[in-house]
Amino acid sequence: SKYSKEEIVKKVKELELEFIHLQFTDILGVMKNISITIEQLEKALNNEIMFDGSSIDGFVRIEESDMYLRPDLSTFVVFPWTSPTREARMICDVYKADGTPFGGCPRNTLKKVLKEAKDMGYIMNVGPECEFFMFHTNERGEPSLETHDNAGYFDLAPVDLGGNARKDMTITLKQMGFEIEASHHEVAPGQHEIDFKYEDALTTADNIMTFKMVVRIIAQRHGLHATFMPKPKFGINGSGMHINMSLATIDGKNAFYDENDPMQLSKEAYHYLGGTIKHAKSFAALTNPTINSYKRLVPGYEAPVLIAWSASNRSPLVRIPAKRGNSTRIELRNPDPSANPYLALAAVLKAGLDGIKNEIEPPAPVLSNVYHMNEDEKKEKGIESLPANLYEAISELSKDEVIKEAIGKHIYKKFRDAALYEWNEYSKFVSQWELDRYLRKF
Ligand code: ADP
Ligand code: MG
Ligand code: MG
Ligand code: MG
Ligand code: MG
Repeated sequence: SKYSKEEIVKKVKELELEFIHLQFTDILGVMKNISITIEQLEKALNNEIMFDGSSIDGFVRIEESDMYLRPDLSTFVVFPWTSPTREARMICDVYKADGTPFGGCPRNTLKKVLKEAKDMGYIMNVGPECEFFMFHTNERGEPSLETHDNAGYFDLAPVDLGGNARKDMTITLKQMGFEIEASHHEVAPGQHEIDFKYEDALTTADNIMTFKMVVRIIAQRHGLHATFMPKPKFGINGSGMHINMSLATIDGKNAFYDENDPMQLSKEAYHYLGGTIKHAKSFAALTNPTINSYKRLVPGYEAPVLIAWSASNRSPLVRIPAKRGNSTRIELRNPDPSANPYLALAAVLKAGLDGIKNEIEPPAPVLSNVYHMNEDEKKEKGIESLPANLYEAISELSKDEVIKEAIGKHIYKKFRDAALYEWNEYSKFVSQWELDRYLRKF
């Protein structure tokens, strides 16, 4: 770890910190927070902070509700925005009263799959591309769908609110130790992307949670509402979270690179890709976990629909960016930022490892834009589609023992039940689209 207990105690004193936030993530990907005063720091560092697990969505029943937080000392970081109070956080794993890791903790779950990779000789590296929208808020502080860059001809605001907010986000993230590689306006009005450097998968999953928190807080300080909802507006691009991934050997070499192959990809890279393609339909439930996720996965908006790969084209599920050597990587394009990053990465890695274990060969790459491929062409080439909605995604997941094993029984059941509940609620709702279509016709 980056810090010992003693170093953290010393730092907290030196910086005169007043609050420590102990953070963890629930099954649905929502960050939870137990704040302690520094008087309780020793207790926290000795893994003695307890909470009632039954009060957290999808955790446990009342009978087994005593849960303990084990802070990961390397995640200690001071919040740059809390002056005049001084606050820091640590990300925690959730343990049961008997001292064993709790099966409903997504971070434990990812660690389990990373251990499996390590036993095979690999470390997973991940670089995410998180897109998001910023919208104006109304007088009551509620979010609208109005953006800062098309707020209207009469908007006399002298500054680009969104651009300023993004700059502030970048500075804050840097102060928290992020290495920012790029930050830019995205295709749609009000849409942005901030890219940070790849790290091992656990660090990246932690970083994604921190990133979303920072983006929301800083947007709010600029009077804007930031959202990671995948498709907030019909007719324009949605927000994705492309997952760039590679395996490194334990001694740090990129295991996907092979200079002697025609495409300079290793056997492992092809098999990892084969596993990714094979399990895509079932890990979609985890990489695209909301009803709204599937409104983004439609043709024409840079999001994938077909389960295929390409070396250059950006319409299929997987692209292999041209960079080689240490940057050799696979870009998975369906994930969106409503995903729980721990579960999404656990599922995606498990799919790739299954490809390596079973030497699954990927299909031939597609060479053109696949948005316009019709049903006959798809059939002929053996190309399948991603699930069309959350219900289909859950059905696919329920049939895939490999991906179910990745997330474990406890999480699978809670996750499935929550998704099906969501689907049932949605199915009953009568939308404006239906009224427009049928009210006069029938
Ligand atoms: P795009 O070309 O799709 O817009 P970006 O440049 O926005 O891609 O993001 C690329 C991401 O890939 C960054 O987060 C970067 O750190 C990450 N990346 C680079 N090399 C690797 C690698 N070997 N393994 C995993 N991720 C990587
Ligand atoms: Mg990008
Ligand atoms: Mg780029
Ligand atoms: Mg982008
Ligand atoms: Mg990308």
